[in-house]
Amino acid sequence: MSEVLPLAAPHADFDDWRWQLRHALTSAAQLAATLRLSADEFEGAKRAEQGGFPIAVTPHYLSLIAPDDPNCPIRRQVVPRLEESHTLAGDLVDPLGEVAHEVAPHLVQRYPDRALLLASDRCSVYCRFCTRSRMVGQGGGARSPAQLAPALQYLREHPAVTDVIISGGDPLVMSTERLVRLVRAVRDVSSVETIRLATRVPVTLPQRVTDELVAALRPLHPLWVMTHFNHPRELTEASRAACRRLADAGFPVMNQCVLLRGVNDDPATLTQLFKGLVRERVRPYYLLQMDPVRGTSHLRTPLAVGESIMEALQGRLSGIALPKFIVDTPGGFGKVPAGRSYVVSRKPGVTRFVSPRGVEVDYVDPVDPRDETDTVRRVESS
Ligand SMILES: *Cc1c(COP(=O)(O)O)cnc(C)c1O
Repeated sequence: MSEVLPLAAPHADFDDWRWQLRHALTSAAQLAATLRLSADEFEGAKRAEQGGFPIAVTPHYLSLIAPDDPNCPIRRQVVPRLEESHTLAGDLVDPLGEVAHEVAPHLVQRYPDRALLLASDRCSVYCRFCTRSRMVGQGGGARSPAQLAPALQYLREHPAVTDVIISGGDPLVMSTERLVRLVRAVRDVSSVETIRLATRVPVTLPQRVTDELVAALRPLHPLWVMTHFNHPRELTEASRAACRRLADAGFPVMNQCVLLRGVNDDPATLTQLFKGLVRERVRPYYLLQMDPVRGTSHLRTPLAVGESIMEALQGRLSGIALPKFIVDTPGGFGKVPAGRSYVVSRKPGVTRFVSPRGVEVDYVDPVDPRDETDTVRRVESS
């Protein structure tokens, strides 16, 4: 029998998102009072507390942790371990080269048409595998309008940027008023078409997705929500209600799942997750190979693990439930699809594929390529 979690016990204000934030666990002692920590976890938490990447676990997310199971997939995401002080060859502090690609304060651009606005350094929960652990949770909180003014000016001066991702930190941890003011400022840039809110709040603080928030953001469409579920156990009644509220208000909700060792690195767990998301009208968008962030190698899988998981899912899972498997190339050179190829061979005009069940089949191009070359030659000489 598991012991009862003191903080998971019903509290009158449990559904109040501000109460959740105020009562998040942030220290080794608080974690130790609630979960049976291993020596490695306690030491990891101590180091995180003393100037490492900070700790935060909301009572909601804590309630999903099995207190006596050191391998609990929820716990592995948020309870620090001693391994966080290990550094492997190839580990980077800023794996996506975001500092080098900062085009204005708090604005990162790695593609001609898209930009990433880091609007806050605060999250409801600090994921131990965070790609931005270099800057997240340092205490600055939401960036002020004055701090974000140069980024907005850059967007006005660069109309090629039509898709702005508001991330952080987690923008949904801000007050509704501040968030709406920010989204409106981005919306007022006439060249911006799509705005995406990147947030883990539907998972870690679903109480935040109130009717009031949804109603305040709704006039700012087209607004997409990019969320981050990693495990089927995270699809709680509260989280599913948050997703439904967003979908009902016309927000396309996309999920970016990070492939994590000991959390979700098997086809059965991911099948359950992806099917559960689709049931709530959340589209599994990316399965992300973990970035080589310093201090996270214990949560990282070799690339071949993701490749074989995708192979197991291809052809077995509905297309709307199957994400793309993506590697965000270290150094900030952009995202690329990873995984095995189903092309067996290529001859001029004929491509041979192997189906997921192992049948080889040819695809024949419409025009004989020699004829095409002749046509090109004829056009050029006329
Ligand atoms: C991931 C990312 C994007 C968005 O990429 P999509 O493939 O369009 O989802 C844009 N800018 C930066 C800096 C990113 O890291």
